Parts: sequence; structure tokens; C-alpha cells
Amino acid sequence: MLSGNEAIALGAWEAGVAVGCGYPGTPSTEILEALFEYPDLYCEWSVNEKVALEVGLGAALAGGRALVTMKHVGVNVAADPLFTAAYTGVNAGLVIVTADDPSMHSSQNEQDNRHYAIAAKIPMFEPSDAAEALEFTKAAFEMSEAYDTPVFLRTTTRLSHSKSVVEVADPATVERPRHERGFTKNPAKYVMIPGNARGRRVVVEEHLRALAEVAETHPANRIESLPGRVADTTVTAGAGSTRVGVITSGVPYTYVREAFENAPGGPIAVDILTLGIVHPLPRRMIEEFARTHDTVYVVEELDPVIETQVRSWGIGAPGSGTRLIGKDAFPSIGEFSAEVVRAGLGLGAPAAEGSRVAPALAVPPRPPVLCAGCPHGHVYAALRDKGMVVSGDIGCYSLGVLPPYNAMDTLVDMGASITMAHGMDAVLGHDPARPTIAAVIGDSTFAHSGLTGLLNACWNKRDGLYIVLDNGTTAMTGTQPNPLSGERMGREDAWALSYPYLAKAFGIPDENFAQVDAHDRAAVTATIDELADRRGVRLLAVVGLCVIEAKELSKAGKLEDKREDRRLVHLPLIDVGGPGRG
Ligand code: SF4
Repeated sequence: MLSGNEAIALGAWEAGVAVGCGYPGTPSTEILEALFEYPDLYCEWSVNEKVALEVGLGAALAGGRALVTMKHVGVNVAADPLFTAAYTGVNAGLVIVTADDPSMHSSQNEQDNRHYAIAAKIPMFEPSDAAEALEFTKAAFEMSEAYDTPVFLRTTTRLSHSKSVVEVADPATVERPRHERGFTKNPAKYVMIPGNARGRRVVVEEHLRALAEVAETHPANRIESLPGRVADTTVTAGAGSTRVGVITSGVPYTYVREAFENAPGGPIAVDILTLGIVHPLPRRMIEEFARTHDTVYVVEELDPVIETQVRSWGIGAPGSGTRLIGKDAFPSIGEFSAEVVRAGLGLGAPAAEGSRVAPALAVPPRPPVLCAGCPHGHVYAALRDKGMVVSGDIGCYSLGVLPPYNAMDTLVDMGASITMAHGMDAVLGHDPARPTIAAVIGDSTFAHSGLTGLLNACWNKRDGLYIVLDNGTTAMTGTQPNPLSGERMGREDAWALSYPYLAKAFGIPDENFAQVDAHDRAAVTATIDELADRRGVRLLAVVGLCVIEAKELSKAGKLEDKREDRRLVHLPLIDVGGPGRG
């Protein structure tokens, strides 16, 4: 049994991947952690997704297959190199995993990244279980090299984290393909000045046309006929309908099967066209499928990406001979379940937009909170007690918005705490009635996107109190290292960014910089009090140790070393249980 994430890692290894990189983000994080365990490749956590994609592209151009992983919002960060990578092509295979999060289990929005595949003109695979995740990862590398283009592999939370049966080859028998290493100079292809890019723009379209042909016969797109009784009025298709077809992709495929196989009154016969390649779509295959079915459902989570394209070809239009049912029956908000799909098919209770089926047992609400003993509770208490406006950021510390702290006023995306506080300051100026504003950001997020915002604030001479809540790890996604940790992937010792040198390099006056021990409540409060009343850019690093990571460090025999590196006093660890990382 493998999770989707583990299967992708295995698929990448079997495909001979040379480099794996990414930024941790639920639900994608475990892919790189699993890949790191395999031999004969280089893995890193990069400081953000744009950097990771650029590292992966560089590796591919030099002849090494590369896997780049990120969650859906990470693709927003990587969008700049993404669109141009379609123009340069890749040389060795480059596969980009976008892990989407329907229902926002741990995300700030619910975007459907199939739109990125269309907009960036990059093919996209979407597996429906772990076995397909393994196969499609290998197929994605082959397609990437054959058509000289980056290829997306889209997963969703349900696939990433659930386990299913996978036939695994004996590693000793796996012949890992090895692309010829070496970089061949080719400025017309790799230097995207406008004159070169215009030529490559044409090539991108040629590749997409060729890929659309590939999709027509690729085994990832397949039709399956389930036996059963002929559809009757229990299916929304209506009385007399004899041929019901479903077009679907990804995890919803499993719900479709379940709904028809376990229909009230016994299994209902249905043909299912499962699209393993969701961009480009196999138009002729879909048109033929529609022509031979009276009623076709399009069952897809989130946006009507497939449905919109299918309707644009005239399928489902009056007189087309096919009744097409999509988002008029299925919600476009939230994760699907077997119940949601069954309701959309007319085999159960109607599904409301974004509805989830209530659990059989009433479960008491369990709102996420900072862990008991989290070193950064003191900061939130101090900010709350001073009544400050707090511009917050992504990570565990977003939980500062909830009781008992109630001390966060904005949260948008990675790094926005600093830049949004900057914007507030630019508007409020020196109005004596203005509230005191502070930005709070975790150390990993600070390295990801906060540094550029801080540089901007220094350069533009703003007033701002910027607080890095440093726990020496990327806690929310499972304690991955970052450039403030003193470790890199695999807990290998590494250089760590020095706040005093950083403050000097950014021109922050000595009196506007402070570094305090997060566990010293009095010092934290006093330093915030002092810096809050100053002018100009103020940088405060509050250095602590995540209690979750401390347990892991203890098991690895590295706790004392890390405490020493971070010059923390020896404090008793609090035994924590219950909800933690949010
Ligand atoms: S995981 Fe670590 S940093 Fe996050 S809330 Fe818990 S103790 Fe604090």
C-alpha cells in the first residue's frame, strides 16, 4: 500500500530522476521526503516554489530529469518561470507536481490548477489512485522529453494522502533511464529575448497540437464499461435513456464507480471515460463518446474545466443528440465524496453547493490552536495587550488569530505580512491617531518571501515593526529545515542566516534591531514595547524552539546541539498532545 505521494516519489525514482526540489506545502510535502530516501539523486528544500522550479529547469537543461513539487498556491509563486519554461523546453524531463486542495483542508484558497495547464500551455496528467500516480509520473517524464516541454502532474489532497494497492517492482530489477548529461548551448532556444521567444511561441503551439493527438490514444485516457441493469428513472438521465456515460478524471472516478456499482436496487450499467490527461483533451475521443451516449455526465471537482471545453465543441447543445449534465448537478465548491457524486447522479439526496455529508456521529468542534508550550504565544499575548494591528502570515502562527490570542488582523499569502504592513504605513503615515502596526512572520516564510518585502521597506524608508517568529523549522508542514534552521534536508548540518548580519546588510540601525529568546516572556514584552515606539524599519527576531520539533530532535539525539546553536537556555519541555500545527 502506498500513498499517492509515496507512489509519485517511487515513479520519479524509477524514471531515473536526478534532482528533486520543492517547497513544503500540504498536501505535497511527503513526495520529496519519500524521494530523499532513494539513492543516486540530489534532493533539496528550496526557499520557495519559484526558486525550486528554476533549480529544476536548470537541472533539466543540463541533462538531469527533475521533479519539482509544490501545493496549488505554490504554483502562483512559480508562475513566472513556469510560463517561459514552456517556451525554452526542457532537454531532460521536467515534471511539476501541483497538489491541489479541494475543501481547503490546509490552504488559504481553493484554486483549480488545471487552469494553469491551459494558460501556460503545458500538458497535465491527473491520476485517480496511487497505482496511476506511479505510472503517470513515469509517463509524464517520457512525455516531457518526447515533446520538450515541462509536464504537470496534478494531485488532490485525497489522492496525496490516501493509500491504495500498488504493484511495486523489485528495485534491483528496475532499469532507471539516464538522460545524457551535459548542457548544449542554444541561445535561440534558451535565451528568451523577444526575438527568440516569438519563434518559440510557434513551437509551443506545434507541441500542443501534437500532444492533443497523443491524448487521443494514450492509455492514460480510457473507457471502462461497468455491467449492470439498464439505466432507468433512478438516474437523472430520465426515462427511456439506455446509454449513460460519464466523463471524469482524478479521484472523482472512484466515487463514480462506487455510485453506479452500489446504486439502490443493484448496479447500473455505465460507460466511464476517465481522463488521465486533463490537458490537452482528446477531442475526437470525447466527441465519439458523446455521440454514442444519450446522456453524458461530466463529473469533475471544482471548476467546470472539462465541461466548458466539451460544451465549446457543441456537445450538449440543442440538437446535438446528447444531454450533457455537469455543474448544473454537481457542486463547484469543495471536495467531492461518493455521497456528493451519488446525489448529482440522482441516486441520493440532492447536493447543495459545497455541501458535505454530515458524519454519522456528532464530533465536538476542535478548533486548531498553537501547541501547548509553543514558544511564540508570548509575542501574541504582548501584541494583543498593546492593541496593535497585526499583519500576519502563513504557517502555524496564523493560529494567533484565534482565541486565546485574537491577535492577527490580516493574512493573505506567503510574505504578505511585511508588504501589507508597509502598505498600511504608506496610507496612515504619521497620523497621530494611527494604530501601532506590527508584521509577524515565521522563519521559513521569512526566507521564502519575507526578505524581499523587508528589503523594499528598508529601501523605501518606511516605518514598521517586523517580527520574525523563529522556531528554527518549518513547523506547519512537518518540521522541514529552512535557511534559518542550521540544517538542510535530511538534518544535515548547514549554514544558517544570521539576523545581526542581515540587519546590517539591510541598513537597519543597531538600535532598531533586536534578537530575544522566545521563552523569556518579560524580555519579549519589553523588547516589543521598546521597538513599538521607535521610527523607521525595526526588525525583531524572536528565537525559540518548536516543541514538536524538539521531540523529534530528542529522538535523533540532536536536541542539545540545536539548543546550543540557537543559544537557548535549557527549559523543561512540555509534553504536548492534541491539536498542534493547524
Ligand atoms: S508546531 Fe511548533 S511552532 Fe507550530 S504551534 Fe506547535 S510548537 Fe508552535
